[in-house]
Amino acid sequence: MSDAPQENRLAEPFAFQVHARQRRARVGVLHTPHGEVLTPAFAPVGTRASVKAITPAQLEELGASLVLANTYHLYLRPGDELVAEMGGLHCFMNWHGPILTDSGGYQVFSLAASRKIDDDGVTFKSHIDGSTRRLTPEISIAIQENLGADIIMAFDECAPPHDRTYNERALQRTHTWAERCLQAKKRSDQALFGIVQGGVFADLREDSARFIASLGLPGSAIGGLSVGESKAEMDAMLEVVDAILPEDKPRYLMGVGTPEDLVNGVRRGVDLFDCVLPTRLARHNAAMTRRGRLNLVNATYASDPRPIDEACACYTCRNFSRAYLRHLIVAKEMLSATLLSMHNLHTLLDLAREIRRAITDGTFEDFAGQFFEEKEGIRDI
Ligand SMILES: [Zn+2]
Repeated sequence: MSDAPQENRLAEPFAFQVHARQRRARVGVLHTPHGEVLTPAFAPVGTRASVKAITPAQLEELGASLVLANTYHLYLRPGDELVAEMGGLHCFMNWHGPILTDSGGYQVFSLAASRKIDDDGVTFKSHIDGSTRRLTPEISIAIQENLGADIIMAFDECAPPHDRTYNERALQRTHTWAERCLQAKKRSDQALFGIVQGGVFADLREDSARFIASLGLPGSAIGGLSVGESKAEMDAMLEVVDAILPEDKPRYLMGVGTPEDLVNGVRRGVDLFDCVLPTRLARHNAAMTRRGRLNLVNATYASDPRPIDEACACYTCRNFSRAYLRHLIVAKEMLSATLLSMHNLHTLLDLAREIRRAITDGTFEDFAGQFFEEKEGIRDI
């Protein structure tokens, strides 16, 4: 085999093509070594290499393309070396589509029992067994290389959104750490995304977007949002970074994923979303619909023969009544988590499909207008 095609393959595994635009919204295709992701896309979260209560076959049937897994959790249990030994995440969890891992930074800051940050990295106690662990940019990349996802994230520090001094310091670290991640990275079949931080401060977000864009990475992530700031603040920050981040690379809004967040984010140039909300709500007996949430444990559903959402084409809504779902919940049957997770994931995956269709047809602004109008009309269903 000559060298040229080999080089081409290495250079192009993460090509991103934008096929249609409407104002800031765009439809594109992100290529990865494990298949394509049509954007805008919603990625279900498989925190510990499992999307809770859902099999990979069900994920495929739901039309998921990209699945997220958490570095922090897998590093602590079962350990990234074991995952590597078992052939990497795709093989271990039997999901052969694209996978994204985060850097572990966010969980260290939100879950670890105690942590000490220095400019080199973070030392923390495992929330599972109290053992002392350390993450640095180099260690995070080494773990993510062992896990073997298609898209990996730079190690960053997510600061409380309204603390300016903290954000200034954290931003400095985040930028230095992104450079170190890029240097540490060895595998050519993984795309490293840098993360824009800066809390709710437009000038910090601007600096951060410029810096991350300057690294020439194959994609950009927007972190530190949906962590306690208002929706208006989030929208404003998205607009700041949207104007700066490279147009020809995918933008990933981390940890954000209500139906309205998807529509709002896409309007501001976001291509990828992920969120635990659909599966977490399902385990708390709540069904997400575009118009609001239903808590199915409510006695009003005890003899309700209707599906969760008459307009929904998911497996759950085609086959089961609210009364049956409520019965499963009350009887503590595990199937309720599966059926509700399927419906909730379908709600977001189907919304992403409709958004892509509307942008392609040039009707996205009408679609978004109608989406919010309908939401306004019905608070509780
Ligand atoms: Zn449904």
